[in-house]
Amino acid sequence: MTASFSELNLAPSLAKAVAQMGYETMTPIQAQAIPVVLQGRDVMGAAQTGTGKTAAFSLPLLQRLLKHENASMSPARHPVRALVLLPTRELANQVADQIRQYAEFTNLRSAVVFGGMDIKPQIIELRKGVEVLVATPGRLLDHIEGKSAVLNQVEYVVLDEADRMLDIGFLPDLQRILSHLPKKRTTLLFSATFSNDIKKLAGSYLQDPVTIEVARSNSAAANVEQRFYSASGEDKRHALVALLKQHNVTQAFVFVNSKLGCARLAKALERDGLRTTAMHGDKSQDERLKALEAFKSGEVDLLVCTDVAARGLDIKDVPAVFNIDLPYNAEDYIHRIGRTGRAGASGLAISFVSNSDARLLSDIEKLINIKAEVETVDTGPRPGADFVTERPPKRLNDGHRLQQRREDGKEKRADSQDPKGRYQPPPRQMSKDPLFDQPYQAKADSTPAAWEAAEPARGRGLSANIKPKRKVAALFQMVVE
Ligand code: AMP
Repeated sequence: MTASFSELNLAPSLAKAVAQMGYETMTPIQAQAIPVVLQGRDVMGAAQTGTGKTAAFSLPLLQRLLKHENASMSPARHPVRALVLLPTRELANQVADQIRQYAEFTNLRSAVVFGGMDIKPQIIELRKGVEVLVATPGRLLDHIEGKSAVLNQVEYVVLDEADRMLDIGFLPDLQRILSHLPKKRTTLLFSATFSNDIKKLAGSYLQDPVTIEVARSNSAAANVEQRFYSASGEDKRHALVALLKQHNVTQAFVFVNSKLGCARLAKALERDGLRTTAMHGDKSQDERLKALEAFKSGEVDLLVCTDVAARGLDIKDVPAVFNIDLPYNAEDYIHRIGRTGRAGASGLAISFVSNSDARLLSDIEKLINIKAEVETVDTGPRPGADFVTERPPKRLNDGHRLQQRREDGKEKRADSQDPKGRYQPPPRQMSKDPLFDQPYQAKADSTPAAWEAAEPARGRGLSANIKPKRKVAALFQMVVE
């Protein structure tokens, strides 16, 4: 059943904004949540980003705030009446952008505040008065303490991506923020899952909520082709480069589990000549926004990111997602592959499976009810340590990118399957570099090492009081996973 926005009797200013955005029919979460929020009820919604949930809470919330709409310049006439809390800066920015568009033809003001940015411009904006404040918890607390955010007239609070906020450890911050809000208010909580912790949070802060669940967007899997390849350690990067070519991928999200791994992989890919940017929690806000913009504008082809940084980002038409590491939490697999194949487009999700991933893979198989066939990647010849024979083009392939996937690289690895066709972990990969495997031997000739030749002779460059350092030779061995 598809319901139209026209059935909602939205105020003309809001209906005009919806029409301007080109929406006619409501998504399932919108059709279910908007009428309930319009009645002023609390909502506990199970929905992920990508389902249209921002409009599901913003439109009815704005409609209910229209009674306060005024064109006065006085800040006192524009107190914060709705608070939207999100776990990350990018999500806060994205949701604030949407709210700004829905409120474009009203006199309701909105603002967004998050950490990692200069607080002063945020203070100036808040002091002018805003009705809808979108925020991440830490920075909001700074504003509460500095009295630039006064929340005693809040009527609506939205806890968006609540499960992720708890994962990040925002519970104490949320509790402090909620303690500053009036008891009489409407509370809307959205979460991808209803874990026990989420239920506890809802039990403490929601009053008689209406529970709304929309089908988990693992339906995204229907138009996303999922493939699994066996690769470990450094080989994952080689495999990624090979598969980008094999599948004619033009742009991709590349997911890595750790911040350090993310930064390292992005650097290595850049060294390989691929136009890459990284996005993880250790990047400054400015760097993260720039990375996102560069990816959106097509200036870079690969966005290497961690889950926290990429959660919920709505970037249309990303042809492929790579999971360099399988996520620790199978739910995150759904989030990750949901980055591709958005709005009905077809997408490709490639995951690398290493020796130790059997449990993570089986969690994913159970959650989305698939049986993964693990294939091998032909990474081509690799002279010495240099894994790419030919430097890849600066820009990934254009044109017919997704159609040919099925025909290419189809070969299954016979030794990776047991007789029942189940995945068997590949043998542990060891270093194959003969020089590296050899024990260290001092040079037979007397040629000085490079650093010795460069060292100034005693009595010339060095003070007589400084003893020359003892030279030490060390051999570092990198353990391949
Ligand atoms: P969200 O889950 O709120 O992040 O929304 C995901 C995407 O769907 C955003 O790009 C929205 O602009 C878009 N969207 C929201 N509601 C609708 C709708 N009723 N019809 C089409 N697209 C929508």
